[in-house]
Amino acid sequence: MENVTTLTAARLAGKMMREVRPLFYLELPSTSSFQHVTEVPDYSKQVTPYFFAMIFLEVFIRWMKGMPRVRFNSSIDSLSAGLFLLLTKVLMGSIDISLYVWVHSRFCMYELPWDSALTWIVALLGVDCGYYWFHRMAHEVNLIWAAHQVHHSSDDFTLSSALRQPISTVFFSMFVYLPLALFLPPSLYFTHKQFNLLYQFWIHTEVVDRLGVLEWVLNTPSHHRVHHGRNPYCIDCNYAGVLIIWDRMFGTFQPELREEKVVYGLVHPLSSWNPFWAQVRNQGSLQSSFPLRDPRYTTMYTSRGDWCGGRKEMASHSNCSSFSKVPAGRQGNHASVFDKIFLRFLQMKNHMIQRCRSG
Ligand SMILES: [Zn+2]
Ligand SMILES: [Zn+2]
Repeated sequence: MENVTTLTAARLAGKMMREVRPLFYLELPSTSSFQHVTEVPDYSKQVTPYFFAMIFLEVFIRWMKGMPRVRFNSSIDSLSAGLFLLLTKVLMGSIDISLYVWVHSRFCMYELPWDSALTWIVALLGVDCGYYWFHRMAHEVNLIWAAHQVHHSSDDFTLSSALRQPISTVFFSMFVYLPLALFLPPSLYFTHKQFNLLYQFWIHTEVVDRLGVLEWVLNTPSHHRVHHGRNPYCIDCNYAGVLIIWDRMFGTFQPELREEKVVYGLVHPLSSWNPFWAQVRNQGSLQSSFPLRDPRYTTMYTSRGDWCGGRKEMASHSNCSSFSKVPAGRQGNHASVFDKIFLRFLQMKNHMIQRCRSG
């Protein structure tokens, strides 16, 4: 009888270990490569019970460590935002993967083999690099920041705040990954898109301190705490999803400072527990700031202008006066690369109009 109980417990522990692996990107090419996109498991559904188990575990560890208690209303607000996202997925279906499959079927130039470990690694790097650029764009382009600020609207930094997601970002992000469709099979894209998102759950916590050498390569709770801070030194940095190497490569990396506690949330706080208001507040203020006939309308697509989005909102606010300034080494990084691309595009457009008129 005792043997049967031990065997059952061992099987259960093994099953749990297998199911929880996607949350930490601890999958192998041999167990997570699929030929067709329809064969890819719904990993988000698989790990949902572990979301809640880890949220309760975090509450317990914070209590054990004597840390401030997790605020119940803030957690409910975050979970509500997660439900909004779920509802959008039900209504919109898998619009992003459908677009990817369509582009792949028409424009694929060279198909990488779906069952190769090398392809699996290319998919990991490609999706993660795409996430870095999308996330950076979400902070540097007013229109997308208006959506992304939902994720930053919690004044707490807990596992439940990871679920606080804007409903509209998929409409922006799905285009960023399309270059991968020229060579990467949709099944690999879909698998790694899920792993990339799920990995980012566990890094939303204060109970894990620095992780030694892993801090050099991986996005960790320490790095992501900085990303969620509103201290000036925390503004617009550490955009990574899984690998922090992208921030180190593109000059947006900022380590956590021991001497200054990170203060979380938006500089102009939401001041509301209404999850619907969190989704629309900045969209409304952006649209009313730049109506269609306003000559500054194009500012919606850049980080310029006087609309209080992203870093300008934070840098000028009096809440920040007691904090340290942005480190000198990173000050120059804030000239948005997206501004330059957009302004170049505008120049080209004006040039073509002029040529048409003169011709
Ligand atoms: Zn962000
Ligand atoms: Zn986050």
